[in-house]
Amino acid sequence: MQTWSSVAVPRVPGSPRPLRLHDTATGQRRPTAPGRVARMYVCGITPYDATHLGHAATYLAFDLVYRLWLDAGHEVHYVQNVTDIDDPLLERAERDSDDWVVLALRETALFREDMEALRVLPPRDFVGAVETIPEIVEAVEKLLASGAAYRVDDPEYPDVYFDRSFTGRFGYESNYDEDTMRTLFPERGGDPDRPGKRDPLDALLWRVERPGEPAWDTSLGRGRPGWHIECSAIALNRLGLGFDVQGGGSDLVFPHHEFSAAHAEALAGEHPFARHYVHAGMIGLDGEKMSKSKGNLVFVSRLRADGVDPSAIRLALFAGHYRTDRTWTDDLLAQAQARLARWREAASAPSGPAAEATIDRLRDHLADDLDTPKALLAVDAWADETLRYGGRDETAPALVRSAVDSLLGVVL
Ligand code: ZN
Repeated sequence: MQTWSSVAVPRVPGSPRPLRLHDTATGQRRPTAPGRVARMYVCGITPYDATHLGHAATYLAFDLVYRLWLDAGHEVHYVQNVTDIDDPLLERAERDSDDWVVLALRETALFREDMEALRVLPPRDFVGAVETIPEIVEAVEKLLASGAAYRVDDPEYPDVYFDRSFTGRFGYESNYDEDTMRTLFPERGGDPDRPGKRDPLDALLWRVERPGEPAWDTSLGRGRPGWHIECSAIALNRLGLGFDVQGGGSDLVFPHHEFSAAHAEALAGEHPFARHYVHAGMIGLDGEKMSKSKGNLVFVSRLRADGVDPSAIRLALFAGHYRTDRTWTDDLLAQAQARLARWREAASAPSGPAAEATIDRLRDHLADDLDTPKALLAVDAWADETLRYGGRDETAPALVRSAVDSLLGVVL
C-alpha cells in the first residue's frame, strides 16, 4: 500500500539517551537495544471509520519511539498493517449499504491524511491484509504441516484454527490468567463457542467462504484470513523474528498480540516474536473509553476541519503518559493550545536562557518510557523563563524549536 509523506527531522546537538520502554511481557521498564536498524511493528487500523483520538494517541506514542531512535543515530524500519478485510469492516459496510472495498479505501486514505497532518513519521512498509493473502496462506499451510494448526471437524465450513498449546509458551505476552483470557477473548473478536475447536480459546487462522462474504481462491480453499496471523506473517516477512518493538493499544494485549506472537513463534520455531511488547492506554470521553461501539468518538479529521492545530493535538495527548488511560476534554485541548502559543512566543524571542540543559531534560524524560508530561514541563520552564526574564543566548530559541520539532514532532 502507498504510505504517507514524511517530514524532515532536524538533528539536535548534544547527547542522545538510550530509550527505555515498559515491556508488557516482563512487566519491566527495560532499555531497548536496537542494532544499526531499529525494527518496529505497530498494529494498524481496521479501516471502517475515521481516525479517532484513541488511534492518534497510539500512533503518536510510537512516533516518539521512532524519533528517539532516530535521535540516537539508528535507522528505523517501521512496519504497519491495515486490516482491510475483517468482520467489523464487513459489518459496517453492510449496515451502511456500502461496498466494503470502497469503505476500506476511503477510510485508509483519510487515515493517511490524518497521520500526515499530525506529522507522524510514516512506516517504511504500510501493508494491507488483502495484498498479503499469499503470505498469510503460506504461513497457515506451514502451521497446518507442523501440527500447530488444524481444521475443525465441520464438513460444510472446515475453518483452520491455531492450537494455542503448541508453543508451550502461550500467555507469556499478556500474563493474563485463564479467567481473564476467557473473558476478553469473546469481547475482542474471539469465538469460544465455535463447535469443533479443540480449545475454546484457539484462534481462527483461515475462514472458509460463507455465502455473501468476500473470499479468495487459495491452496487452502476459498476463504479469507483471520486477524492475528495477518500481523505475524507481515512482521516476520519484513522484520524477522526478535524485532525490537511490537506496539499497539492496550486492547490488543490479548488476544491479538498473544496470538500474533504465538503464531510467529510456531512458524519460526524460536522466540520471542518481539523483544518489547509496548502498549498505549485508551483515550476516553466523558469517563468512557472512546470506541466505535460506544459511538463516543472525537475524530482527528473533525478537529482538523475545525481549524485545530495538529501540534496542539500532539501537546494535548502528550500531557498524559502514553500508558495511562486518560480522558479527552475541551479543557485539555484549550490548555494545549495555550501551551503551544506560549512556546511559540518564547521560540520567536530574539534570545533566551541557554537551551542545552532544557534539551538534556527533554531527552532524559522521553528516554524514560516516554515520560511526556515531564518533558513538556521542561520546555514550559524554558519558555516561562524566556518570556519573564529573557536571556542572552541568541541561539537558544532556534535550538529549542529544533529539539521540540525533532523529539516531540511539534512545530513552533
Ligand atoms: Zn496486529
